Amino acid sequence: MIPIYESDVVIVGAGLAGLAAARELVKSGKKVTVLTKLHPLRSHSGAAQGGVNAALSEDDDVELHMFDTIKGSDYLADQDAVELMCSKAPETIRWIEHLGCVFSRREDGRIAQRPFGGQSRPRACFSKDRTGLVMLNAIYEQCVKEGVNILDEWYVADLLYDGNKAYGVVAYNLRDTTPAIFNAKAVMFATGGYARAFKINSNAHANTGDGLSIFARKGLPLEDMEFVQFHPTGLAGSGILMSEAARGEGGHLLNSEGERFMKKYAPEKMELAPRDVVSRAIMKEILEGRGAKEDKFAVYLDLTHLGEEKIKERLPELRDLALTFLGRDMAKEPILISATAHYSMGGIPVDINGHVKKSPNELTEGLYAAGECACVSVHGANRLGANSLLEALFFGRWVGWQINKDLDSLSLKEAKKEDADFMLNEVEGILNSNGSERVANIREELQEMMTTKVGVFREEKTLLEAKEEIKNLRERFKNIKLDDKSKTYNTDLQEAIELGHMLDYSAFIIEGALNRKESRGAHFREDYPKRDDENYLKHTYAYMDENGEVKVEYGDVKITKFEPQERKY
Ligand SMILES: Cc1cc2nc3c(=O)[nH]c(=O)nc-3n(C[C@H](O)[C@H](O)[C@H](O)COP(=O)(O)OP(=O)(O)OC[C@H]3O[C@@H](n4cnc5c(N)ncnc54)[C@H](O)[C@@H]3O)c2cc1C
Repeated sequence: MIPIYESDVVIVGAGLAGLAAARELVKSGKKVTVLTKLHPLRSHSGAAQGGVNAALSEDDDVELHMFDTIKGSDYLADQDAVELMCSKAPETIRWIEHLGCVFSRREDGRIAQRPFGGQSRPRACFSKDRTGLVMLNAIYEQCVKEGVNILDEWYVADLLYDGNKAYGVVAYNLRDTTPAIFNAKAVMFATGGYARAFKINSNAHANTGDGLSIFARKGLPLEDMEFVQFHPTGLAGSGILMSEAARGEGGHLLNSEGERFMKKYAPEKMELAPRDVVSRAIMKEILEGRGAKEDKFAVYLDLTHLGEEKIKERLPELRDLALTFLGRDMAKEPILISATAHYSMGGIPVDINGHVKKSPNELTEGLYAAGECACVSVHGANRLGANSLLEALFFGRWVGWQINKDLDSLSLKEAKKEDADFMLNEVEGILNSNGSERVANIREELQEMMTTKVGVFREEKTLLEAKEEIKNLRERFKNIKLDDKSKTYNTDLQEAIELGHMLDYSAFIIEGALNRKESRGAHFREDYPKRDDENYLKHTYAYMDENGEVKVEYGDVKITKFEPQERKY
């Protein structure tokens, strides 16, 4: 008999967004279950290095933070959501500090802030270069203290949703593949990002976008999926992140001729132009043959002029990473970097209070999302550095409050044991599959294809090829074979399910990119190099039908204070 557990709220994901919501709900006396496939402290939030934005200093203000964010988004962000987030940022920083997050300080004892790309003021609060980990530890400890019920190493594979209302999830225990139904009045997804679909990426292995595909398979839309952020500075070869803090602290980008090439692309902001601008500049240098001497697919990031003391004090993790994975000491010589798939601006469409949308103007009931898996949309077509830790923490907490309010009017729709059938069939189907295809091969081909055809530069011809290839890969996926058929910590099984998710949401990225015949923020079409506000100042909403075909429609962008202008740096 499959067990059915009841709570008021089920939260999927134990990164900053999931835990912030859980803590607030439990504080208000609600019964909450948090499910996570990782130990909470292994969530990708813990890998964030650079910082978290808030207009704290004397010469900064909320309106400026808001403007920078909207300009950075290439005017696709919803301005009401941006205003909410930026105005609550200082309070959010004080909150997490009071919960135990230790920030680096200025001489006078106030919280130190470093410059980040596209920001008019130094605005990123940080804990050396391990900001995400320090914040995650603080919120996790608070959750433990409050007695939040966290079930780690549980893999959520399905959502209980009747076409209008959500009433739980179906999951299995990774230890022994035991299934269970988690029935609840409200369900929140905080499953994080999904850049693992790309070969060169900065994301944790777990960032396979499960939450998005689970929603898409229910016929729910995904928003703005074509906007994938390529971070300018991933370590050459691996894509492991060298945080923007490296440029924030004064790092220079150089080509094979020793030229600080950013002066050609963003003469004013130079290395601290927004990520889309810097990534394209790096890729252009590489494509035009000015890549590094040691590796023509990379350029140099030079930090040597900062001196060993400052690097040790401000960037100790980065130095370690470059030493371990590149064998280079950044205090002594320039390191090699190139653009890496990093962050997903798009995701599960939600309104400003985290309610999941079932179309541009209709909401579901009892279903919520926050953090990187959601699209609220505060980042529009391009996120500014240090705005997503803020998004995860602030909206996680905010949506927790919203759920707490909504619970008064939400009733429990009882789950039945047949509700687990979809997941049980999926698991058994994969375990018993006896085809000829290898999961790892299909994944590698997918990642290679997404990087070369749906990467920094896109055009119709290669996008059409990508669409065809994904169809083939999805067909081949039906013919896989696993070697491990056991039920104990079967990572083969998990990776197969995750690959299914990656294939599904990649189809959304490709379809969104094909249909958006303009260049905006992180989405750059060589065949349509200009932004086209007349036709495309709108959000993409895409839906998948039973045959796996993805269809696109568009919804409005909320513009309140700032009319779109040309974006120059
Ligand atoms: C290397 C790196 C550095 C970064 N640096 C910065 C920075 O300096 N500043 C900044 O603002 N942003 C930064 N970001 C982005 C930022 O860290 C993330 O956007 C943010 O932390 C996401 O938080 P989250 O809570 O939404 O998701 P995550 O922290 O990714 O958590 C996702 C959770 O979902 C769970 N989960 C997923 N799928 C399932 C499933 N099927 N079943 C059960 N559980 C599941 C996972 O176990 C995990 O607990 C960085 C990102 C990376 C990759």
